[in-house]
Amino acid sequence: MKSIAILGGGLSGLTQAWKAQKSGKKVTIFEENSRLGGVIQSERTKEGFLLDYGPNSLSLRKQNLSEMLEQLDILDHAIDANVIAKKRFIVRAGKLVALPLNFPTFLSSRFLSPTGKLRILLEPFIRKSKSSSESVAQFIERRLGREVLDYAANPFLGGVFAARPETLSLPNAFPALAEMERQNGSIFRGFLASRKKFNRMEKTRLISFPNGMEELITRFEMKVQCSILRKHSAKEIESVHQNGWKIKCTSENGSQSILHFDELICTLPATQISSIKWTNVKNSKDLNVLSTAPHFPLSLVFLGFEREQIEHPLDGFGFLVPELENRKILGTLFSSTLFSNRAPEGKVLLTTFVGGERQPHLAEMNDGSLFQSVSDELSCLLGVKGKPIFQKIKRWPLSIPLPDSRMSERKDAARRLSSLNNGLSFSGSHLTGVSLPNCLEG
Ligand SMILES: Cc1cc2nc3c(=O)[nH]c(=O)nc-3n(C[C@H](O)[C@H](O)[C@H](O)COP(=O)(O)OP(=O)(O)OC[C@H]3O[C@@H](n4cnc5c(N)ncnc54)[C@H](O)[C@@H]3O)c2cc1C
Repeated sequence: MKSIAILGGGLSGLTQAWKAQKSGKKVTIFEENSRLGGVIQSERTKEGFLLDYGPNSLSLRKQNLSEMLEQLDILDHAIDANVIAKKRFIVRAGKLVALPLNFPTFLSSRFLSPTGKLRILLEPFIRKSKSSSESVAQFIERRLGREVLDYAANPFLGGVFAARPETLSLPNAFPALAEMERQNGSIFRGFLASRKKFNRMEKTRLISFPNGMEELITRFEMKVQCSILRKHSAKEIESVHQNGWKIKCTSENGSQSILHFDELICTLPATQISSIKWTNVKNSKDLNVLSTAPHFPLSLVFLGFEREQIEHPLDGFGFLVPELENRKILGTLFSSTLFSNRAPEGKVLLTTFVGGERQPHLAEMNDGSLFQSVSDELSCLLGVKGKPIFQKIKRWPLSIPLPDSRMSERKDAARRLSSLNNGLSFSGSHLTGVSLPNCLEG
C-alpha cells in the first residue's frame, strides 16, 4: 500500500485525505495546530452566541458535492439557511436597499437608476471581448455598465473575496461567466441556454450546522480514516532521488522527527510554502511562484444586542457596502437571522467585515477604535441604539488568496512541479479557488 503525506489539515487537506484513502493509500495528515479545519472555526461563547470566525455557510449548487457530503454522512446533520435570508441588501445613498429577487421587483427597485437598468438590457447586443485576460471590473463594465460595476459587482466582491473587482481576473475568479460569453456571446443568452440544465438540477442549498461550520470538519474527521499528526509543523521537505519524500517536522515541545512517504500533497496556504526548506526539488523556482497570491488583512467584528436595540427588522442575509458609499465597513451579516440558534432567545448577532483590499488599514485598527467605528456605522445604517451586550473581534492578517491575473501562472507552476517531481502535488484554496465548494472539488 502506498503511503501519502498531506500537509495541512484545512478543508483542502481533509478532502485530499479522503480521496487518497478512497484510492487505497495509507494517509498521514500533518497539521501545525491542535485542531483541524484551518480557517473554518466556530465557537459558542459563554453568553450563548455562536460565532463563525471563518466561513459562515456552504453553498451547495452541484449534485456531485451533495453526493460527496452524503457519502461522508455530513448532509444529514446540516441545517438550511432561513428562507428569509434570500433577501439581501446593499447600501445606496446611506440607506439599505433590498436587491431585487425577480423581474417585477427589479423594475421597481431603487438599487439601480432607470439608466442603469436600461443599460443592462443592452447586454445581449454587446460584442464579445477578444481579450482572454480581462479583470472582473472590465468585464462587468463592458457588458452591464458602470452602475452595475459600482453597485453590484463592487459590493459583492467586497463581501466574497474582500477584494476589488479591478484586481480579480475574470477567467480565474468566475470561469463560468467567461465561458458563457465565449460560447453564447452574452451572459443573458448563456443563462437562457443553461436554463433547462439548471431546471433539472436540485435547488441551491445554503447550509451550515447546529454547532457552526466547524462541525463540517469534525464530521469529515470522523470519516477519514488516517493518521492525524496535530501540532506537527512541516519545516523541511526533501525528495529522495525521485523515490519518495522525507518530511522533517517539529512538534509542540520542539522535538523534531523525520518521516518518509511515497507521495506528498501540499495543501498549505500560499504564504507558508516559501517558509519551508525544499531540497532536491526539480524546478524549485516554481515554488516561489506559488507564493505570489495576494492576501489582505480582514477583521470580523461580532456584536450581540437585545432585539429591541435595533430598528431594522434584520429580515435578510445582511447588507454589503459599495466602495462609492465611502463607509468604514465592507458589510454585515445578520447572523442570527441566517441560521437558527446563533443567539440566545430575544437577542441578535451581527457579524461585520472590515478591511480587505479596499481598506486594509481599517482591519488593523486597535480593538477600541474598531468596535467604535463599527458601532457608529451600524447605528447609522441599522438604527442600533445603545451598547452591545456582547462583542468580539477575529483578525485574519492574511485572509483570502485572491484569484488575480497571476493565478494561471501559479496553476501552471503547480502542474510543472507535479509533472517533474514524482509523487508531489499541490492543492489548497490559492489553487482551487477560495469557496468551500472549490476546496471540496479539489
Ligand atoms: C473570514 C473568511 C470567511 C470566509 N467565508 C466563506 C464562506 O462563507 N463560504 C465559503 O465558501 N468560503 C468562505 N471562505 C473561504 C474558505 O473558508 C477557505 O478558502 C477554505 O476554508 C480554505 O481551506 P484550505 O484548507 O485551503 O486552507 P486553510 O483553511 O488555510 O488550511 C491550511 C492548513 O494548513 C495548516 N498549516 C499551515 N502551515 C503548516 C505547516 N508548516 N505544517 C503543517 N500544517 C500547516 C494550517 O494550520 C491550516 O490548518 C472564507 C474565508 C475567510 C478567511
